[in-house]
Amino acid sequence: MNPFHYQRAGSAAEAVALVAREPAATFIAGGTSEVDLLKEGVHQPSRLVDLAGLPPGTIAPLNGGLRLGASVSNSAAAAHPEIQQRYTAVSEALLAGASTQIRNVATMAGNPLQRTRCPYFRDPGQPCNKRVPGSGCAALGGLNRMHALFGASSSCVATQPSDLAVALAALDAQVQTTGPGGSRTIAFPDLHRLPGSTPHLDTVLEHGELITAIDLPAFSGRSHYLKVRDRASYAYALVSCAVALELDGTRIRRARIALGGVAHKPWRVPAAEALLAGQKPTEKLFLAAAERAFADAKPLDHNGYKVPMGRNLLVRALLEISGLQPLVGPAGTAFAASVGGMGGLVSSPR
Ligand SMILES: Cc1cc2nc3c(=O)[nH]c(=O)nc-3n(C[C@H](O)[C@H](O)[C@H](O)COP(=O)(O)OP(=O)(O)OC[C@H]3O[C@@H](n4cnc5c(N)ncnc54)[C@H](O)[C@@H]3O)c2cc1C
Repeated sequence: MNPFHYQRAGSAAEAVALVAREPAATFIAGGTSEVDLLKEGVHQPSRLVDLAGLPPGTIAPLNGGLRLGASVSNSAAAAHPEIQQRYTAVSEALLAGASTQIRNVATMAGNPLQRTRCPYFRDPGQPCNKRVPGSGCAALGGLNRMHALFGASSSCVATQPSDLAVALAALDAQVQTTGPGGSRTIAFPDLHRLPGSTPHLDTVLEHGELITAIDLPAFSGRSHYLKVRDRASYAYALVSCAVALELDGTRIRRARIALGGVAHKPWRVPAAEALLAGQKPTEKLFLAAAERAFADAKPLDHNGYKVPMGRNLLVRALLEISGLQPLVGPAGTAFAASVGGMGGLVSSPR
């Protein structure tokens, strides 16, 4: 590990000032992602500004929705009764990620800001434009079964690994920040960037900009998160999806869909959402929406399997949320949020 300074900030303003004045300084919250990057030599900050000294975060009502403090733990958010009942996909996504011990420490801001699990990014011996701009992309011609279907570039084909981020994108959450330039609100689907020619920039946050809270807007529909991974626990999504449906009697008034494990950011699919609006929920409709959602996918050498897998997963999530197929496990549990291993879905194409 490389030497660095460590400092615990006592307030948000102090944290921002400490990071903003030093180009290679960075924040650390739960540390469950950041410390791995330090140990692996992937990230070499000059200073770590610890947020653990800031006032503890809370979950509080806000304009009919909820405000979640940035330092609220993933466990506390997943277990919160209102999140389980009104924002089920958020609870399900959290419970589908990492382990109990990690979720007890990981924070609401740190989770969506964790960096890609691309193995070439995590190996300083490999070229990676995200780690060392201009060095190349080993994943393009390498083993890319975990990589992107949408929005990739010739510089980077990595995916964003956060389960929580996918649910927050589908629910149109908002991110509250404070930074050197003042405070602002960022629509969650706009937080992460596509790689383009600057894949080292994961988000639109400026250097020293601190997330202070995540807001969930008022929502009276139902939401659901499903994730497929290589093994039953402790694995990142191969493909995942979060769906949010608002019904008007027997018709879908509004649908929102975000896909995970397929792009450099949670991938909203407006064309598939539009296809559902105003329609009665049926399996045929959901198959058409899933077809549409993946119509523009551009598979790499080893990740073509994600297309039928993702379509199947999305159909299943829509069937379960609309009551046309029973939930496997109670909503809000890791069991409901995670379906089998890879084989199960691939071997049952629709
Ligand atoms: C074995 C293992 C398995 C895992 N499996 C999964 C999984 O299946 N799904 C999943 O989603 N995640 C998984 N994770 C990742 C885990 O969820 C993240 O490590 C965790 O959520 C990060 O939160 P943290 O508070 O520890 O962030 P940290 O590690 O402290 O920070 C992460 C990043 O966020 C920045 N940051 C933190 N707080 C703020 C803030 N308030 N404002 C601005 N920047 C900030 C830091 O500078 C850093 O860049 C796994 C992790 C491990 C170790």
